[in-house]
Amino acid sequence: MSGALPPGSTIGIVGGGQLGRMSAMAAARLGYRVLILTDEANSPASHVALTTIVGDYDNPDTLRAFAAGADVITFEFENVSAAGLDLLASLRPVRPGPAVLRISQDRVAEKSFLNAAGAATAPWAEVTDAASLDAAIARIRLPGILKTTRLGYDGKGQALVRTAEQAHAALAELAPKPLILEGFVDFACEISVVVARGADGSASAFDAVENRHRHHILDITLAPARIPPETAEAARALALRVAAALDLVGLLAVEMFVTRDGSVVVNEIAPRPHNSGHWTIDACPASQFELHIRAVAGLPLPAAGRHSDAVMKNLVGPEETALWPAILATEGLIPHLYGKTEARPGRKMGHVTRLFPRGSLPGEFGVRAALGPLSPAEAVEPESGA
Ligand code: AMP
Repeated sequence: MSGALPPGSTIGIVGGGQLGRMSAMAAARLGYRVLILTDEANSPASHVALTTIVGDYDNPDTLRAFAAGADVITFEFENVSAAGLDLLASLRPVRPGPAVLRISQDRVAEKSFLNAAGAATAPWAEVTDAASLDAAIARIRLPGILKTTRLGYDGKGQALVRTAEQAHAALAELAPKPLILEGFVDFACEISVVVARGADGSASAFDAVENRHRHHILDITLAPARIPPETAEAARALALRVAAALDLVGLLAVEMFVTRDGSVVVNEIAPRPHNSGHWTIDACPASQFELHIRAVAGLPLPAAGRHSDAVMKNLVGPEETALWPAILATEGLIPHLYGKTEARPGRKMGHVTRLFPRGSLPGEFGVRAALGPLSPAEAVEPESGA
């Protein structure tokens, strides 16, 4: 595909979740149609897309039918098999390309790539058995985190280990193998930067935001992150560098730790819209979803600026979803619901955003007050991870 995708063309999105839903809404505003591929009936993205194919992500016939209906293909979900990605890429432009997805699907490939690109990570080692675990512990030292290398998300597939005994017990439990052992980062806060990059190499990065997790699931994003300007700039520069090194076409979220001495360490990357970028819908002239679609469609990329500061709070599980009527009745909360019928524990059902004039994001107390019915009971402190 060369040049800009004309209005009326169809963008194929792999994945039917809320990231696909919000990407499809941005695509519609730019005059595109959307075809969703999902393995789930009645998915959030299918409610707002022109057409949906429900099928297996790795079934060649399903992938062929999907490619036939799309002018360009992108993702909100990364775990398509290597063979499936190659098949799609042989049929249509796939943005980001299969090489980028392969790196982000596998923690060993991801960390090797990041280190080669000059991005610092926690010290890490691949672990396949008891002997390689002992060698990894000797080099990295404990405490550490043992993680599966594939299919991990929201803290699933990982264990904090403080002793060699705990590490060997976790090695027996965690699957699939191989694993990696990562040194434990005693971080001051967790931040992320979302960057869009076009086929012509132009790129736009949002400001670094601060992310707070509850039970390993993103709870609150503060935009901008309350970190020194030079740290925020280093994080943005790092995200732009990683996107360029990947030769990314599309969107990339870079999750990072800010250590207590102020350095920035990459935790992981995701080549798609990201939960920590949802605040951009309400606080920016062009959201992460618009930038995603623009990059994929070959449109010019505007600056990823914000007109407001923002707090984003996820609505997770039945308890927070039950607050929906109170949220709607609260002046100033901007509500987003994803159309999921069942509010299972830990499931992301929607989010709310609250805007503040640029430069006036409040302190801890103000953030809590601003969330009204969603105000956290305890102080909004970063999770230590310990
Ligand atoms: P991940 O699935 O790698 O994004 O990890 C989920 C969460 O676990 C992160 O957001 C951190 O809060 C925590 N975590 C992951 N890796 C480390 C590490 N090496 N040191 C400290 N905390 C970590």
